[in-house]
Amino acid sequence: MHPLPIDPLLPEIVRRLERAPNLVLEAPPGAGKTTRVPRALLEHGAAKEANGEGARGEIIVLEPRRLAARLSARRVAEEIGEAPGETVGYQVRFEDVTGPKTRLRFVTEAILTRRLLGDPQLKGVHAVVLDEFHERHIHGDVALACLRHLQRTSRPDLRIVVMSATLDAEPAARFLGCDSLRSEGRRFDVRIEHATKEDERPLELQVASAVRTVMSLPEPGDVLVFLPGAREIRRAQEALEKLAAERDLLVLPLHGDLSPAEQDRAIRPAERHKVILATNVAESSVTIDGVVAVVDSGLARVMGHDPWSGLPRLRVEKVSRASATQRAGRAGRTRPGVCVRLYTKMDFERRPEHQPPEIARLDLTELLLELRAQKIDRALEWLDPPPPVSLAAAEELLVRLGALETEASSAGEVTAIGRRMLRYPLHPRIGRLLVEAEDRGVFDDATVLAALLAERDIRASARAQFGGGRGGRPGDVATEDSDLLQMRDLFREAQDARFTPHVLRAIGLDAGPTFAVDRAHKQLRRIGRLRDRDRGDDTELRKCLLTGYPDRVARRVRGRTLAMAGGGRAELAESSAVRDAPWLLALDGDESRRDVGTIRIASAIEPEWLIEFYADRIVESTRTTFVRTSQRVESISSMTYDGLVLDESPAAGTARADDAEAAALLAEAVLADGIAGLAAFAPEGALEEWVLRARFARTVDPSIPLVDDAFLRAVFLEHCMGRRSFAELREASFLDAVQARLGSVFTARIFALAPERITLARGRSVKIRYEAEKTPHIASRLQDFFGMKETPKVGGGKVPLVVHLLAPNQRAVQVTSDLEGFWERHYPALRKQLSRRYPKHAWPERPES
Ligand code: ADP
Ligand code: MG
Repeated sequence: MHPLPIDPLLPEIVRRLERAPNLVLEAPPGAGKTTRVPRALLEHGAAKEANGEGARGEIIVLEPRRLAARLSARRVAEEIGEAPGETVGYQVRFEDVTGPKTRLRFVTEAILTRRLLGDPQLKGVHAVVLDEFHERHIHGDVALACLRHLQRTSRPDLRIVVMSATLDAEPAARFLGCDSLRSEGRRFDVRIEHATKEDERPLELQVASAVRTVMSLPEPGDVLVFLPGAREIRRAQEALEKLAAERDLLVLPLHGDLSPAEQDRAIRPAERHKVILATNVAESSVTIDGVVAVVDSGLARVMGHDPWSGLPRLRVEKVSRASATQRAGRAGRTRPGVCVRLYTKMDFERRPEHQPPEIARLDLTELLLELRAQKIDRALEWLDPPPPVSLAAAEELLVRLGALETEASSAGEVTAIGRRMLRYPLHPRIGRLLVEAEDRGVFDDATVLAALLAERDIRASARAQFGGGRGGRPGDVATEDSDLLQMRDLFREAQDARFTPHVLRAIGLDAGPTFAVDRAHKQLRRIGRLRDRDRGDDTELRKCLLTGYPDRVARRVRGRTLAMAGGGRAELAESSAVRDAPWLLALDGDESRRDVGTIRIASAIEPEWLIEFYADRIVESTRTTFVRTSQRVESISSMTYDGLVLDESPAAGTARADDAEAAALLAEAVLADGIAGLAAFAPEGALEEWVLRARFARTVDPSIPLVDDAFLRAVFLEHCMGRRSFAELREASFLDAVQARLGSVFTARIFALAPERITLARGRSVKIRYEAEKTPHIASRLQDFFGMKETPKVGGGKVPLVVHLLAPNQRAVQVTSDLEGFWERHYPALRKQLSRRYPKHAWPERPES
């Protein structure tokens, strides 16, 4: 066993854990934490057992990555001369290499949390080691909170060890109320070279140039390249072929989807120089000896969640400055090294210091269900508490899925359905649809749907969309009920052909995701203890999907535009085959915001199912509105689901709006643009004229009420009572209503003070014009005023009218309110002109008498 930097500390670690239950350990990657510390605890337990100090307990190590769990277990087993699965084993999703003798168990993901579900006391477990804690994966945070809770309640003897490569140990040590130990490994300087400007070339070409550069340095050694994922690694591998042949290099991929043998090959020392193309597993989870140069793409696949479904999704993101520093450090383990960053210094400096812990940014639905089932979610203390909004959203979704009780007496407790959902180690949406499928006898196909939803898209073309290409296979234009069922058909076709590569290619499937779906589907079948393959009924399957996505219902507004349950709009992707269905589920969307998102995977539903499944969420209401086209106030009874209208019909009987409401709506429709709208409900011009007369009358007799806009509005509202349409309004004169409201006395006063017409001396009746803020006036031919000495008056004889005197050609020859003065001063001169121009008319010298 070759010595490692951590070795001298091991006796101290063991001793401290004898005295206190908890310990935080910080040491740089490669120090030997993962392979030596758990083993030291194991051997110490064995020694005590041999001394008769009681049976040794099990050691569980929680790793954030499957690859690390697998490699570490294999390494430790090898160092103690055993095969994995004997004393040392590992348990990751889809793989369980443990046996009855296993005492040291490397596990990942939810395996520990789920073990706590079935065995809340962790019987027989002596210590739990949380490795790579600086990664702050959600399972590490949850495990820490749960274990601490257990330790404070019924297992004070349980040992908790937190190990990390970069974590500032203080917060964790304070949380656990314990010491922290630190081991400084030897580190050499690493020279960092940034890109001088942004490189537009494809990533793999940038990688190839960078590898060529570092291989040209004096004394080249092994090169470690950090790339986001398997696909990028494959491309880089191709791009490096030429250089590898020239320089006799060994190009080796290293990521979680490889077989253990392939993973070993990347780590094991080799005769030739190695170029290891790795994901962020090589950041701190595994150490490859002999690396002297690092090429860093600055990218990583990071766990996030689909904004539509909350389902976990990996996406490529820029790594934090802390990660970038960690990556560079991998070049300085054996001697001074170099790190080439494929991004600029400015880019580096703009990055966040750390990636926030997963618990602060991921969907918490699955976690909440697990914790609620143990009834400990409210009792837990957290290193960093989960955000209350995420918890509230999780709780709401769980209620909708039927996983939590809503009855007051047991509100929030996990229901029988919720317990059944927990059997499936997946997002509760998927658990729910599988439980429904068990009941409906369509379980086998439902496991395929579940796997398709949980894993990456199997369709090769689905991703071409993001590369700019158009989605959909050529000729794939048929309209379908469900994109997901269409994917199921493709998967079944591939399965029937035993996943032969050429068949996968022919039907447009991507091998990696297809295998992942196959694995997940098989695992789910195992959990459901299903033996036969029941090809399910598609309608039943679509119903099952609804039970998992009751809050993702959408109604087609037009074309590809959808109205979403709960509000908001979305677009259906062009590649979606669900082209007709008016009602559908938005199963998977793109990563943009919810209200403008694009739905990539949809599945039709029947609106009746919403009534059948969620009767308690259907809201029946009557909506009364003024309908422009019919010019009527109409009452519509509607049934809505989360704001989406399921059914509408004209309301009848008591459901109809009452008169006051209808009147208000009708009045509102007329008066929306102001008082002018009223004119339409009296003979042309009559209302305006009458209002002006009433206002004039009031200038003479202030006791007359003011007929202003507010008065008219009030009268109109009353006028609308009992009426529901413009047609009905027109049947009665609004002017009569105004006069009725003023009462007969005032109305008569107005008629008297502001008469409509006046009769001139020679018998001609002339209309009086009333205008706001002006003296009323009349206009008539000059001759009509012959015989009138004084100006005619209104306002009960108090207000002389303004008189427009017209020549025979209807042109005004004078405007005056002093007829007497006119006859005297102006008429004599005017008379001469008029007699010349209109000799046939009579122009007496003294016309007033
Ligand atoms: P740490 O957890 O502190 O990062 P590890 O315990 O994983 O360190 O590894 C310590 C050292 O053991 C590594 O630097 C490497 O030299 C060696 N080692 C660990 N695992 C393997 C393996 N699977 N194959 C070869 N060497 C390994
Ligand atoms: Mg480690």
